[in-house]
Amino acid sequence: MTTHAVESLFPRLEPLLSEVSKPVQYIGGEQNAVVKDWDAVQVRWCLMYPDAYEIGQPNQGVAILYEVLNEIDWILAERSYAVWPDLEAKLREHGIPQFTLETHRPVGAFDLLGFSLSTELGYTNLLNALDLAGIPLHSAERTEEHPIVLVGGHAAFNPEPLADFIDAAVLGDGEEASLRIADIVREWKAEGRPGGRDEVLLRLAATGGVYVPRFYDVDYLEDGRIRRVAPNRSGVPFRVTKHTLMDLNAWPYPKQPLVPLAETVHERYSVEIFRGCTRGCRFCQAGMITRPVRERSIETIGSMVEQGLRATGLEEVGLLSLSSADHTEIGEVAKQLADRYEDEFVSLSLPSTRVDAFNIDLANELSRNGRRSGLTFAPEGGSERMRRVINKTVDEDDLIRTVATAYKSGWRQVKLYFMCGLPTETDEDVLAIADLAKRVIDTGRAETGTRDIRCTVSIGGFVPKPHTPFQWAGQLDVETTDARLQKLKDAIRADKKYARAIGFRYHDGKPGLIEGLLSRGDRRVGRVIEAVWRDGGRFDGWSEHFSFDRWITCATRELAEFGIDTDWYTTRERDYDEVLPWDHLDSGLDREWLWEDWQDALDEIEVDDCRWTPCFDCGVCQQLDTEIQIGPTGKTLLPIPQVRPDLG
Ligand code: SF4
Repeated sequence: MTTHAVESLFPRLEPLLSEVSKPVQYIGGEQNAVVKDWDAVQVRWCLMYPDAYEIGQPNQGVAILYEVLNEIDWILAERSYAVWPDLEAKLREHGIPQFTLETHRPVGAFDLLGFSLSTELGYTNLLNALDLAGIPLHSAERTEEHPIVLVGGHAAFNPEPLADFIDAAVLGDGEEASLRIADIVREWKAEGRPGGRDEVLLRLAATGGVYVPRFYDVDYLEDGRIRRVAPNRSGVPFRVTKHTLMDLNAWPYPKQPLVPLAETVHERYSVEIFRGCTRGCRFCQAGMITRPVRERSIETIGSMVEQGLRATGLEEVGLLSLSSADHTEIGEVAKQLADRYEDEFVSLSLPSTRVDAFNIDLANELSRNGRRSGLTFAPEGGSERMRRVINKTVDEDDLIRTVATAYKSGWRQVKLYFMCGLPTETDEDVLAIADLAKRVIDTGRAETGTRDIRCTVSIGGFVPKPHTPFQWAGQLDVETTDARLQKLKDAIRADKKYARAIGFRYHDGKPGLIEGLLSRGDRRVGRVIEAVWRDGGRFDGWSEHFSFDRWITCATRELAEFGIDTDWYTTRERDYDEVLPWDHLDSGLDREWLWEDWQDALDEIEVDDCRWTPCFDCGVCQQLDTEIQIGPTGKTLLPIPQVRPDLG
């Protein structure tokens, strides 16, 4: 952590940019970017998304924290993204470190370096960024000169594979947590940094909401399983709790997000309409770890959209959440937004939709001002039996009724998402996807009287995740996954009547297996990540950069001394008594409840959404001493009238 003036690296960087691809992504200066006086603040955060700008720039978590932190006069926050291999080579050649976009200052000069982790396949990029920044890879080797390296985001709910490389992990919502952390660092600096790096980490750990791996020891059993994880310092809690922002209306961020300069995956103003999900899909880590449900009010949504569009000039609004159609006032939100922006070229989108007729009304409303391109539904499991196991309560007849309404309303393209490799799955469960897709096409043709109907089937490999009922499940091996997907492809292609109408998208099982290794890994997996990175591993989330052979070779070599391997972490089913690497990290969910839900899955028993039924005692609301927060409020979106440019 440096206190003296830190110069911009841009004069050294600029001559190199003409020699690399998409140089605009490294320039910064986007609309709404914040540049603060380095010397006028007391705490400096660098927020890093360890993937390319085009993926990281739209990330909602980073956008929120960027504004929350920069609104405080004694804090500055800048951003950094992973550099592509062509620029990495140039930076190494010229001795230029990893930099931020706002002022092109070296990342290593900040007080705090916070990584937002959406996917485990970004871990090698995290290591690469540390190395490029000149920050020692291992936290034990860092001194007071180096930033405190933190991780947050969904993948941080099991940060154990990164334990050697990070100083701390924060579980849950970051708005209040990032400010609290800044406060602790400010105090410690103002006091003259007593006790050095260890002391500030101890102060963070003592809050009970910041996990500092170095203050916990892990003991192993002879057979490789964990015996126990326990604190090695006094004042450090046995369990670290997640942060939950209870009043979303009090934190209406982002208010004026950055407008990307280079092309990114999403170019729209996104407003999160609620946080959390109580549907209870057993594979869904996001739904489980973000409980309880907290809705943003219709009025706040309205004013955020109004302000966000004005601040950015963007022409698309995304209504974000894990299951947006579940907002109790979504019908009103959609209708009133569509009314308000009727005469402007503002389109609305709802990224995730439930399968029922109501959603077609909603989709029609949302597409009123824009294109009617494709509708996406996620039954996830091909057969009714499979959907009972995963607790995705979608009835096939309901789905067919819904698509019939969609095709009748003018939609020509339906996308269906599924997973392969779910617990208890057989070939028949996956082949049922082909039958379902054919029924969808038949329905579309019957409803419209035309053959010009398409259905795209998209399949991802299932990866068991921590803090879900499937955390104990064995992952399906690559060979069986690929063979099953091939059978499904053959079944779809075999029937000429449908072959051209059904699109088929899938990934092979290899990246999913490595994601599985990292998701449920423990500290020993850190050696594998480091070995892969040293061997050149970067951008593992990109198929053109991912090397399965490299991962397997490194894992086999690095794990051999422990008598375990990749299969041990992935395809092995765990039992109730096994200590899981993340058991000391508290997502709010009761372990007993998770286990019972796992048993219910094996017995094909479904559980309702607790929003509409009595509580199932998952533990979250009890621990927070709260209840789920839902409407309806009966309020209207905005007091602002409809926009009519023709009337001035
Ligand atoms: S504690 Fe009860 S009401 Fe709250 S999220 Fe869990 S099951 Fe739902």
